[in-house]
Amino acid sequence: MIPYSRQSIDQSDIDAVVETLKGDFLTGGKKVSDFEEALAHYLGVKHVCVMNSATSALHVAYQIIGLQKGDEVITTPLTFAATSNTAIQCGATPIFCDIRYDGNIDERKIEALITPQTKAIAPVDFGGNPLPIDTLKALCDKHKLFLIEDASHALGSQINGKKVGVTADMTIFSFHAIKPITTFEGGAIATNNTAFYEQAKLLRSHGIIKKELWNSDMVTLGENYRLSDVACALGLSQLKRLEHFIDKRNEIAHYYDKRFANNPYFTTIAIDQTKRSTYHLYPLLLDRSLWCSKEEIFQALHVKGLGVQVHYKPVYQFSYYKKLFGEQRLETTEDFYKAELSIPCHQGMSMEDARMVADTLLETLASIKGCKR
Ligand SMILES: *Cc1c(COP(=O)(O)O)cnc(C)c1O
Repeated sequence: MIPYSRQSIDQSDIDAVVETLKGDFLTGGKKVSDFEEALAHYLGVKHVCVMNSATSALHVAYQIIGLQKGDEVITTPLTFAATSNTAIQCGATPIFCDIRYDGNIDERKIEALITPQTKAIAPVDFGGNPLPIDTLKALCDKHKLFLIEDASHALGSQINGKKVGVTADMTIFSFHAIKPITTFEGGAIATNNTAFYEQAKLLRSHGIIKKELWNSDMVTLGENYRLSDVACALGLSQLKRLEHFIDKRNEIAHYYDKRFANNPYFTTIAIDQTKRSTYHLYPLLLDRSLWCSKEEIFQALHVKGLGVQVHYKPVYQFSYYKKLFGEQRLETTEDFYKAELSIPCHQGMSMEDARMVADTLLETLASIKGCKR
């Protein structure tokens, strides 16, 4: 089975991990700050604070802006649940904004959702496709809102020559196994705001600061969201190959773009010249006539070894969300969910694999009868 995404681990990664395992510090050592500095340098931001997951990083970011009961966060329903779950954990209410047909939040629909309770906007760079970040930042500035960008898919994405991570108040990255680079599990907050960075370090480690000798003080209620030195050693090693990973994914994506132009079954999402995507995902949008056959298509592709997946079930459709916030339906989100399939696109694939994926996909779709009316 060729999965839709997969980690790439080579001997240099293994050596880096083993060396750190044999060292004095498995956690709390210098690999952590080395990895943070390397990330900050790569992104061109002042500070990076790594944590044990992007979920932890989102939770900390919301805590830093003082998110609490009564507050609202405008976010996208087309995401992994953690983007809004962590706002709920702070007592806030997620307000779901509809998306564009490229999977990103529809920035034109945000302003109508802003209320006196709105505290932040938390969009996602879907599949690595960078958000129109300057527009979002201007909107946040105008209404005095925080911009928390969930860039879990987008480490290394760029728009208008600017890397994802340099604009928002805080940008969140994920190093889960199949994200652009991995530390097994892991995440980070990137920020140019030094006070936010200091808060992030504090909340990551119990809210405790060291004083002199054995003395310490706990100044706020924090968590243990630390990332180990072993994980950071892997991250450092992976970061060296990130550009290569992105180039590989782009090569496959561009081949797919050409190969799938004007086919009768689905459209793809164009990434224009102003952008560079990590292509964490390569999403297809099936033609409406095939929506009712999606289960059949999904199963047929799995039988043929294509590990396609669907991103995402709209978060408001989860029973937990329905219980808390009632039934919701956003039109483009609903359509996108019915249409979307993510096909294999990752740095472990050869161009021969990509050709096989394309051939198998087109053959399979040709054999699907379409909907019974
Ligand atoms: C993967 C992901 C997360 C959570 O990342 P973890 O590191 O697994 O906690 C959050 N948001 C989005 C959009 C993701 O894809």
